Amino acid sequence: MIVAKFGGSSLQDAERIKHVCGIIKDLLVEKPVIVFSALGKSTDMLLDLASSALKGEFDLSEFISYHREVARQLGVDVEDEITPLFEDLEKLLGGVSLLREFSPRTKDYVQSFGERLSVRIITPYLVQQGIDARRFDGWEAGIVTNSLFNEAEVLDESYAGIRDALEPVLGNKVTPVVTGFISKDREGHITTLGRGGSDLTASLIGAALHVKEIQVWKDVDGILTTDPRLVSSARHVPIVSFEEASELAYFGAKVLHPLSIRPAMKTNIPVRIKNSYNRDHAGSLILAEISDQDKKKVKAITVKENVTLVDIVSMRMLGQYGFLAKVFEIFERHQTSVDMVATSEVSVSLTVDHNRRSEEGIAMVIDELVKFSRVSVEANKAIVSVICDINDSTEILAGAFSTLSKNGIPVEMISQGASKVNIGIVVSAENAHRALTLLHELFFPVELAA
Ligand code: ADP
Ligand code: ASP
Ligand code: MG
Repeated sequence: MIVAKFGGSSLQDAERIKHVCGIIKDLLVEKPVIVFSALGKSTDMLLDLASSALKGEFDLSEFISYHREVARQLGVDVEDEITPLFEDLEKLLGGVSLLREFSPRTKDYVQSFGERLSVRIITPYLVQQGIDARRFDGWEAGIVTNSLFNEAEVLDESYAGIRDALEPVLGNKVTPVVTGFISKDREGHITTLGRGGSDLTASLIGAALHVKEIQVWKDVDGILTTDPRLVSSARHVPIVSFEEASELAYFGAKVLHPLSIRPAMKTNIPVRIKNSYNRDHAGSLILAEISDQDKKKVKAITVKENVTLVDIVSMRMLGQYGFLAKVFEIFERHQTSVDMVATSEVSVSLTVDHNRRSEEGIAMVIDELVKFSRVSVEANKAIVSVICDINDSTEILAGAFSTLSKNGIPVEMISQGASKVNIGIVVSAENAHRALTLLHELFFPVELAA
């Protein structure tokens, strides 16, 4: 058995969906569970509609006609399935525009329409093409989360839930088609797993069913040395370890959801990233153990933006141990997660993600820290991460520092952390892209034409 997930970039129009159907037909011998994201950029469209609704006016017609047109071109009659969803969405956005209020819970409800529509349009098409497919919304497939709306965490009971929901269907040789990204909490409210969360759904289902391989189909030939939208000379990386892939995703490579590797890693199931636009390409394989030949000094470089740098200097009111313990206890209590840390005897520098949810947490943390330390906070930073073999860190750091300093880019903090595969370099946001390009050039030089 395998899990095969197709993201929005593989499902943007009827032609692409027909192509994906061809891929699924060839995968049938492997008894696949299929996971679909929303069509194309429809999650972005939904969020834009909600922003308009918040300002008082919204127009659903483009969103509706996009979905209807895809269904029409696929030749499936799904009006009875999709019209009630459009009506619900209209009412919901009407409520947002009336109340001028858009809570995290409502946001998840709004975002859920993308995936719900996508499986309601594509599954009947798969059936029409002779595939015995049956659709499941995430919660019908047994997935349950906590109530941290917008970035809900999957509860352990989901593993048994997925088996209970999908095994009988698979036993009857039916192909389950599951919505990625969306789920419900125990109270029955719709939740989402964070942007790009369909990758996580796929990995979770794969782990629950102990499949042979989790396939994630995208619009790139797999993992590349950096984001090809930022550096056009980015190159293909054929083999990546779970650890490297986790760090890559966590530190900003938008090719995988940050937490998506975890379930696969826990159950030691290989993850293969494939290109639905170039299906003969082998893609990238993510594995527990990689051979010496596949180990590289530098594997990839990522950039994570919207980072806030916090410097905390002890006023020596507490002993050294007490100081560090107290600092991190405060972050923990305010549920503010720290990405990078560098410490000396009397000071700590660390980075936190800056987003709507963390903003309040950071403010409360600082209120407490200033009682026993001097604190400086600088927003608009970025972390450029070099995913590498840490045994070579001296050489990598020397090269990175010399390149950045020659180009006048100040390094604000570095950390090689507990992770054995990642060196993090903090620079100001305005230098991030240039730092990424320079480091990519340094570690992956474009070979001169012979
Ligand atoms: P999908 O919507 O199908 O899940 P995504 O758009 O989420 O696909 O992910 C694929 C995109 O990730 C690529 O088009 C590429 O621009 C981007 N990307 C960012 N970093 C990397 C990287 N290191 N390797 C490959 N792709 C990357
Ligand atoms: N549709 C969701 C998003 O755009 C989830 C996903 O694509 O994985 O973020
Ligand atoms: Mg994605």
